Amino acid sequence: MSKNHKIQSFDFETLTVHAGVEPDPLSGAVMTPIYQTSTYVQDDVGRHKGYEYSRTDNPTRTVLQNAMAILEGGQHALAFSSGMAAIYTLLRLVKPGEHVISGNDVYGGTYRLFESVLAQYGLEFTFVDLTDDKALAMVIRPNTRLIWLETPTNPLLQLVDIASVAQIAHETGAWLGVDNTFASPALQQPLQLGADFVIHSTTKYIGGHSDVVGGMIILNDSTPYEELKFLQNAIGAVPGPMDCFLTLRGIKTLALRMDAHCRNAGEVAHFLADHPAVAQVIYPGLPDHPQHELANRQMKKPGGMLSFTLIGGEVPARIVAQETQLFTLAESLGGVESLIELPALMTHASVADSPLAIDPGLVRLSVGIESAADLIDDLAQALHKAASVQ
Ligand SMILES: *Cc1c(COP(=O)(O)O)cnc(C)c1O
Repeated sequence: MSKNHKIQSFDFETLTVHAGVEPDPLSGAVMTPIYQTSTYVQDDVGRHKGYEYSRTDNPTRTVLQNAMAILEGGQHALAFSSGMAAIYTLLRLVKPGEHVISGNDVYGGTYRLFESVLAQYGLEFTFVDLTDDKALAMVIRPNTRLIWLETPTNPLLQLVDIASVAQIAHETGAWLGVDNTFASPALQQPLQLGADFVIHSTTKYIGGHSDVVGGMIILNDSTPYEELKFLQNAIGAVPGPMDCFLTLRGIKTLALRMDAHCRNAGEVAHFLADHPAVAQVIYPGLPDHPQHELANRQMKKPGGMLSFTLIGGEVPARIVAQETQLFTLAESLGGVESLIELPALMTHASVADSPLAIDPGLVRLSVGIESAADLIDDLAQALHKAASVQ
């Protein structure tokens, strides 16, 4: 009998290795083959084995989609060529004249897509602090169709109470979409908390090795799924089979990697919190984080991302970002290697002159799976250099 028959009863660690994956029926290959083909033979006109053309469906992509649906506890998943392609396709469910409420601390590219692209086509957007239920209630309108949130947010690592916003969304007849990129299903599963859609930039923790760009939508309800499946094919922003394979390969170690990311981020957070040159550390695992209690309740662990500011602001922040050697100065996050960046100048440059603008002295770390002691040594020497320049 197929192991996927009893998949629901397995623990998350087992699911990451086995979900959706069966030996290849043709060859017995244990790992899903890369079906590098654009088209499929038809035995007779319209009679085929379920695949016609690789924009519409591809067997490597099917396995990835099935795996992600299982990991997020959803019925359906659809893969895209990037996180932005997934968000764009999802937003096509919202029609001109309808209203979207978005958290006010979202990925810069998401803000750009909403404000600079989709707002031109008759969609209305309001950005609000979703950590505040009263502020949310004030901006709901009769035509609100979608509430969009990230938790933890990027780069300020605020937490939003998914179950509470889901309830508010459903009372007003709106959907709730959660960008689960920062937590991954290893730490939280928004569909179980009432979200209607989960999206991922699988480029980050899901792929996990900084070698592939991809996106995913996961959901339960079959009606929007049919429409999204139509849109996936109609718009065509789909991943190639090699990208699907790399993402599937990354998923196998997701649980192991997230354990290491969280353990290291916790140690780095405590080191920074005790350092005299550091002004503030934002990490959901620290007791002084404003939503520390929610983090304990909503997330299995506090994640691998943290942000901090330095006494002296932007000048020492730039020095630290330039002087680290193990932490690579680069955009993106969620890979095995540690990265450092200044969001205001890098990932969040697209919100620079907007209400979402980020403090130029904020440093964001994506803490990798190296040795925590080596990471701390690297930060210590960079902080020392920053202090000596002051
Ligand atoms: C990176 C990212 C995206 C965009 O994903 P791409 O794969 O880069 O298109 C969306 N949301 C969050 C939270 C991200 O970190």
